[in-house]
Amino acid sequence: MRLEGKVAIITGSGRGIGKATAVKFAQEGARVVVCDVNLEDAAKTAEKIKELGGEALALKIDVTRIEEVEEMVQKTVNEFKKLDILVNNAGITADAKLVKMTQEQFDKVISVNLKGVFNCGQAAAKVMVEQGNGVILNAASVVGLYGNFGQTNYAATKFGVIGMTKTWAKELGPKGIRVNAVAPGFIVTPMTEKMPEKVLEMMKEKAPLKRLGTAEDVANAYAFLASDEASFITGAVLSVDGGIVL
Ligand code: NAP
Repeated sequence: MRLEGKVAIITGSGRGIGKATAVKFAQEGARVVVCDVNLEDAAKTAEKIKELGGEALALKIDVTRIEEVEEMVQKTVNEFKKLDILVNNAGITADAKLVKMTQEQFDKVISVNLKGVFNCGQAAAKVMVEQGNGVILNAASVVGLYGNFGQTNYAATKFGVIGMTKTWAKELGPKGIRVNAVAPGFIVTPMTEKMPEKVLEMMKEKAPLKRLGTAEDVANAYAFLASDEASFITGAVLSVDGGIVL
């Protein structure tokens, strides 16, 4: 098992990619703190992990609230005595064309996808620096590599997440902490269910592998980057997109 004995926090793990990642990490031997703004969903993920014989703690956390984020890290350390891995997965969309996007749509996405990643990364890094080791993984997107129609706010956050990933890799590398990002393409989750079927079909056709991704495709990439197999990899952005960016 690749994550035997590790302790991982995964934000937004009540459903979608976060849930698949939490289950995968548990199957690889990690003890998982399942965090989501929706406690019912977080509890379901934790229950699934326990049914599979793993160990999990479910917490209700809004990543935009620094006091809740600090409490999440504190509870993790109290319960499991350390923090090895943070997966900054929580993210939202609120799409509109530039001329129609409201202040509220812009601010909401910035707050969760960018400030939330900053909040969790900073709180986790404080513990990891003290320990002298750790791994931080951030959810970017192909949209953070080439932009996307109707996603001014979302693209800004994902380009920003890549910027933070590279900055943290430089700052934290000497402290024994690796920081990487995963850039998923179009993955079948509740987030993409909101997209028109026509657009998803188009994305499928555009990708050389001719399919949409699964949450497990992304979870597998996170598991690799979290593991010691990736011990010389930092500051990287790993595309998990069926080749759509080529
Ligand atoms: P998802 O199905 O919408 O799941 C996101 C989870 O995050 C939900 O459980 C959601 O809770 C939770 N969440 C939302 N706001 C939060 C907050 N403030 N604090 C804590 N948790 C919060 O999304 P997904 O498709 O799995 O995507 C996961 C990540 O991958 C996101 O960062 C996304 O941008 C990125 N990504 C996804 C795709 C894709 O094609 N799906 C592609 C590229 C990148 P609620 O249930 O209450 O909303």
